[in-house]
Amino acid sequence: MIYDLIIVGAGAAGLFAGASLPYPVNGLILEKKSAPGRKLLMSGAGQCNLTHGGSIKDFINHYGKNGSRIRSVLYRFNNLSVIDFFESKGLPLFNRDDDKVFPKSLKAQDVLNILVESCRKNGLQFLYSTLVDRLSRNESPVKDLDPSTVLYTVHCNGRSYTARKLIIATGGCSYPTTGSDGSIFPVLEELGISVGPLAPALVPVYVAQYPYQELSGISFQSAEVTIKSLKNKDALLLTHTCFSGPAVLNLSRYGQPGDPLVLNFYPLKSEETIRQELSQAIIGNSKQLLTVLYEYFNQGSKESPSEIPKRFLEVTCMRAGIDGAVKASKTTPVHLKSIIRLIVHDEYQIQKLGGFESAMVTTGGVALSEICIKTMEAINYPNLFFAGEVLDIDGDTGGYNLQFAFSSGYLAAHSALIENF
Ligand SMILES: Cc1cc2nc3c(=O)[nH]c(=O)nc-3n(C[C@H](O)[C@H](O)[C@H](O)COP(=O)(O)OP(=O)(O)OC[C@H]3O[C@@H](n4cnc5c(N)ncnc54)[C@H](O)[C@@H]3O)c2cc1C
Repeated sequence: MIYDLIIVGAGAAGLFAGASLPYPVNGLILEKKSAPGRKLLMSGAGQCNLTHGGSIKDFINHYGKNGSRIRSVLYRFNNLSVIDFFESKGLPLFNRDDDKVFPKSLKAQDVLNILVESCRKNGLQFLYSTLVDRLSRNESPVKDLDPSTVLYTVHCNGRSYTARKLIIATGGCSYPTTGSDGSIFPVLEELGISVGPLAPALVPVYVAQYPYQELSGISFQSAEVTIKSLKNKDALLLTHTCFSGPAVLNLSRYGQPGDPLVLNFYPLKSEETIRQELSQAIIGNSKQLLTVLYEYFNQGSKESPSEIPKRFLEVTCMRAGIDGAVKASKTTPVHLKSIIRLIVHDEYQIQKLGGFESAMVTTGGVALSEICIKTMEAINYPNLFFAGEVLDIDGDTGGYNLQFAFSSGYLAAHSALIENF
């Protein structure tokens, strides 16, 4: 039997391709895991930040060096199209204050259910626990078929399936337990498709002498991180062993072991202003130093909230060599200066970056030069299409990666099934 379409990979991109087909087909979705959308279910901590609000024009800057190359993909099926798609299927969405878009239910499972259901309605049958380990084209001539027709055969541990159109949506190598373990890349290379060097991206950063083991789970709404003179202001998370959260993750692609990492936990005011204001605040003040610091660093306006937790300030006092329980008036200028320095200019050396096991995405993959970006079709392999993270595209946190998975999935599906789409 020859299928109209086979999609390899039941992740965000493959499912969206199947869910947005322009018409029903006789097709398959092949997935190596025993269930679909494992990574999608983890996305946004299980709440699924499925795109970003605002103008699509602003998206381009959020995909590193390759952003401008995927402009047409994002424009063809943009963030408003994604929102329309899910809302028209009965899943209301909302923009959070930071412009990240989520389902109102805050359940990634609801997103997954819609995609799987839509794929089924579009005639796609799911085959799970099916690892694709070889691809071939025009394996054997087919009776009654124009010999110039290009067909693909997908081999899965002894079984094989043939289709007129094939979409590869197998993701990258990050969080391999979800199924995206890079197993497709040697398969593609064997077929003759070039794959760029693969590396983890959006990773936590480990530093020498990390001082916040005891503060694991504490986060800052808006901290400023600097790596190699590149700055990023966003949420920062302290974990047991390293720095994480969007402020660090989004810059991690620019850092290497040995580079300096500078954190400013209170970027609302300059170091000098803080020094002057705090010096005034402690004069003759009989409150504990810790209380004065806490009151000072938690007076941000509604527009610029600042929350520096007391436990963090306690550790900072200890690092500066002073007990936070002393009377504020007893603080020496030297101690005050070093406390402020640790809050606005906490400098480390990067020891290592997180690996694939903790990377939210993969940088590298199928080279964009291999595909026609207007259709997602392989330039030298007619009827073979790509979508999602399998391609050499990685975005910032904030919904950009799922947006690309959806935009490229949509484009691949439509180009595959509509001539001159
Ligand atoms: C913890 C975490 C949270 C995230 N949160 C967000 C978020 O909130 N917003 C956002 O935009 N992005 C988020 N991302 C990134 C986003 O989830 C991915 O970019 C997106 O899922 C990629 O979709 P994909 O379909 O290309 O790949 P995947 O979702 O990885 O799907 C690929 C599928 O292909 C299957 N597969 C792989 N190889 C084979 C093979 N050889 N044969 C058969 N099947 C195969 C895999 O099992 C998998 O199911 C997050 C990532 C992580 C790890």
